[in-house]
Amino acid sequence: MPEHHTRPGSVASGDILQTVRVGLPSNLPFAGPLTYAVPEGLALAPGDWVEVPLGKRVLVGVVWDDTEGDDPDAPVNAAKLKSVAAKLDAPRMREPLRRVIDWVAAYTLAPHGLVLRMAVHMPAILQPDAPRVAFRAILPPLPEDVRITAARSRVLEAAQHEPLSANDLAEKAQSSPAVVRAMADAGLLQRVTLEPAKPPTPDSQRPGPALSPEQEAAAAHLIAGVEDRAFRVDVLDGVTGSGKTEVYFEAIAAALNAGGQVLVLLPEIALTAQWLDRFQQRFGVFPTAWHSEVSPPNRRRTWRWVADGAARIVVGARSALFLPYRDLRLIVVDEEHDQAFKQEDGVRYHARDIAIVRAQMEGVPICLASATPSLETVANIDRGRFHRLSLPQRHGGASMPTVEICDLIQTPPPRGQWIAPPLVDAVTQALADGEQALLFLNRRGYAPMTLCRTCGHRFACPSCSAWLVEHRYTGRLQCHHCGHQERVPSACSSCNATESLAACGPGVERIAEEVAERWPDARVAVMSSDLLQGPQAVRELIDSIGRHEVDLIVGTQLIAKGHHFPMLTVVGVVDADLGLAGGDLRAAERTFQLLTQVSGRAGRAERPGRVLLQTVEPTQPVLKALVAGDRDAFYRAEQAARQDAGMPPYGRLAAVIISASDLGAAMEFGQKLAAIAPFGPDIRVLGPAPAPLALIRGRHRVRLLLHAKRSVNVPAALRDWLAGAKTTGSVRLAVDVDPYNFL
Ligand code: ADP
Ligand code: ZN
Repeated sequence: MPEHHTRPGSVASGDILQTVRVGLPSNLPFAGPLTYAVPEGLALAPGDWVEVPLGKRVLVGVVWDDTEGDDPDAPVNAAKLKSVAAKLDAPRMREPLRRVIDWVAAYTLAPHGLVLRMAVHMPAILQPDAPRVAFRAILPPLPEDVRITAARSRVLEAAQHEPLSANDLAEKAQSSPAVVRAMADAGLLQRVTLEPAKPPTPDSQRPGPALSPEQEAAAAHLIAGVEDRAFRVDVLDGVTGSGKTEVYFEAIAAALNAGGQVLVLLPEIALTAQWLDRFQQRFGVFPTAWHSEVSPPNRRRTWRWVADGAARIVVGARSALFLPYRDLRLIVVDEEHDQAFKQEDGVRYHARDIAIVRAQMEGVPICLASATPSLETVANIDRGRFHRLSLPQRHGGASMPTVEICDLIQTPPPRGQWIAPPLVDAVTQALADGEQALLFLNRRGYAPMTLCRTCGHRFACPSCSAWLVEHRYTGRLQCHHCGHQERVPSACSSCNATESLAACGPGVERIAEEVAERWPDARVAVMSSDLLQGPQAVRELIDSIGRHEVDLIVGTQLIAKGHHFPMLTVVGVVDADLGLAGGDLRAAERTFQLLTQVSGRAGRAERPGRVLLQTVEPTQPVLKALVAGDRDAFYRAEQAARQDAGMPPYGRLAAVIISASDLGAAMEFGQKLAAIAPFGPDIRVLGPAPAPLALIRGRHRVRLLLHAKRSVNVPAALRDWLAGAKTTGSVRLAVDVDPYNFL
């Protein structure tokens, strides 16, 4: 790779003009890095951080190298070229990360700068951690002409030992930072400079638990991969409670032992807290966390720690993929099938897929863990690209829970209630035996719709095609799409009838109300993202459930994942049909995964577990497979159906979503696009059709769906197609390659 991009300039004869391409983290719609002149005497290499002028602004960018998409033969008008303003002192962006950014931009059709921005976190990140100033008592004798007050003498006392910051010292001496500083000025304390803080190093030599033979074999395979230092994908496919985490911890230990860094991706921030605890128990220190709730000062430090290699283990959400690892040796994606890995706005990427790309660019192994791998992953196992490691049994001889159907037609709940008699009995029994029960309903709030019994008016969001969801704890009606909220009215806004509003259908809050009436003595917890503020609150609740301070849990998918509660024996799925409505491509797969996961909470220790699925359609294949415990039969049927239809992972999809302030404009643009759409035996475009959620935030939405054979290069086809489309007025266009959301 050339150091820079040099070419003869058109300036004065004989001059060699040095230019570089600079990637700019921005939301400006550039196709790629921009070319700048390099001032004489400035040596730049790919990955260097620089300041460059753009219009009237000065932006921070990264020196890029020659890559696809750039036109190296385009004439550079030297006279018009602006120069790099300065080189910044920051760790170089390594080539594998630059290649990942190029790859994501090319694949998702997102502007290069928008992708680069995910790796940069401007501007603070480029400021090195300031050395910390600390204070320490001077050696005697003290200067004579200084007055020693009581406060000063307390500070002197406190400053006898290790150097402390002004704040820490003041706190220890019950004084103030101003007193501390004044004492230093008066010569009573010595100022010392401390190295910036570093994260603690995990103890990778600590022994883990004794592994079962299956765990041992899987761990040995993963460790061999880490030692090989080559790209490969291993799928840790083990039933819930089989000890997948313990297995990949062994691979993490191997990577840490070798002096490298490890990235662990989890689908939800709420899960990281428990993961941090578990890691701490195994390796003695907490790992470094990276997600949207990490405070800005911590982000800045963490980014630096990752770049200089001090952060040995990073656990985080999607965005941790774009951190500047210095010496990455292993990536783990836990719950790899989880759709939360798909980012649905801005750059629409799937974090599992990009994790694989990153592992490939870095030349390191990646481990995908799941009890219900995605069909995409299964197809890659079948194609021989990924290697499967199976853990077919629960750890420690715990049995898998029994799964039963609870037929809501044959044994319906009483009117206005949602828990049917068989589930009531099961929960009552568990409580009587001193065990815990979980009622699962993947719907936040109290009721998904509010209806006026007098006029039939239904309360809808003013700017989305969606009903308002009642949240009784906050007394509000909320739109789950745009965040609009209003007070629950006392009268119908359409006919003014009072006491006429009826809540239709249940959310978790309503189930909690029913639970409180039916089991008044049970200690009940409701677990729903809107009721718990941040990961810490989730962690506290999880801990208290673990300590058996809660008998009955009512929860959304937040509770379904990853937790281990030994006393939880009964899981009731209040509405097993919920995810199957709407008929999107992955509805059955997703429902199977979610219900397997929530079922997996039951009976993880000595006491056997029991799962009841409430349904009005007991013959649905998904539910039958869950009852039979026959995952592979379900997968085979689902694969066959996708194969027949040429749907992912056996075919390809991309969505083009057009939005505008009026429907006509969106539709008209959609028709124009359809008219120039690619068409042939391997590719066709469906639509335009109004999106199921036709209105969001006041914008009308129309969708086109590109469906192609697997052999088609979809991003290239999209680029050719959309190159001819100029949006005007309020029309906006978004592209979603491999869509997961069909709303
Ligand atoms: P999974 O991630 O597959 O659902 P976990 O790794 O959470 O399973 O393991 C389930 C439980 O069994 C956890 O409490 C874990 O600590 C325990 N466990 C797993 N493997 C072992 C082992 N080899 N020795 C002791 N405990 C284990
Ligand atoms: Zn709305």
